[in-house]
Amino acid sequence: MSHPEILRLEQIEVLYDQVILAVRDVSLHLAQGEIVALLGANGAGKSSTLKAISSLVRAQRGEIARGRIFYQGQDITHAPAHTLVQGGLVQVLEGRHCFAHLSVEENLLLGAFARKPSRAQLRQSLERIYQYFPRLKERRKSLTGYTSGGEQQMVAIGRALIADPRLVLLDEPSMGLAPQIVEEIFDIVARLNQQEGVAFLVAEQNIHLTLEYAHRGYILESGRVVGHGTAQELKQREDIDALYLGQA
Ligand code: ATP
Repeated sequence: MSHPEILRLEQIEVLYDQVILAVRDVSLHLAQGEIVALLGANGAGKSSTLKAISSLVRAQRGEIARGRIFYQGQDITHAPAHTLVQGGLVQVLEGRHCFAHLSVEENLLLGAFARKPSRAQLRQSLERIYQYFPRLKERRKSLTGYTSGGEQQMVAIGRALIADPRLVLLDEPSMGLAPQIVEEIFDIVARLNQQEGVAFLVAEQNIHLTLEYAHRGYILESGRVVGHGTAQELKQREDIDALYLGQA
């Protein structure tokens, strides 16, 4: 690994309702500026792993996360989500979670909440986002509820970018979107990675497409890592389609 490590998970477990072990002994790492895929079928534990990283697993709801998580060398296990955002670690939740009754630009600005930037910095951040997502600039005054699913996914990613992240946890960006839009979104992720060195941990069921963009990947099945390697190595695995269907 030529770049320093940005994220390391050591033996993560996520338990729901005391009995459902959604993530079992997951260890993984990302280098700065890497795109790493977290692949697996429906229910494999991808979202739960991302939630454990960004402290969205909640003890008061009977959810428990165990193990250790390091971000840029610091132990961030159970660190509050807003301190992670300030430190440059941001999650884009599955299902996008945009506010339908707010405009596209208002939704984007919500991402700046934890950083408290000046007006000039905000304007600059918005312009940077619009450079990557020209569609959002065109639609900046539209109510987000009237935009397409692909545009809402772009808003969700754009909102994360306004926090000026070093690492984005991206949960199923392809969900419910036409293949052409998914490629458009992955192309933007690749540009952000190449031009700005933003690292991405991408949870996806769409294994083939994600491996076209990721440098490396981990395969999850029933909450365990059952394989990992470079994108090239994973593409050559014969059981990859069975994993795609959750039958491995
Ligand atoms: P998906 O693509 O459907 O989101 P996933 O790989 O992200 O799948 P998780 O959402 O992490 O998987 O789910 C892993 C397991 O944990 C599944 O069996 C799921 O039913 C269970 N699970 C997830 N969230 C909860 C919860 N809040 N309470 C109870 N069980 C949960």
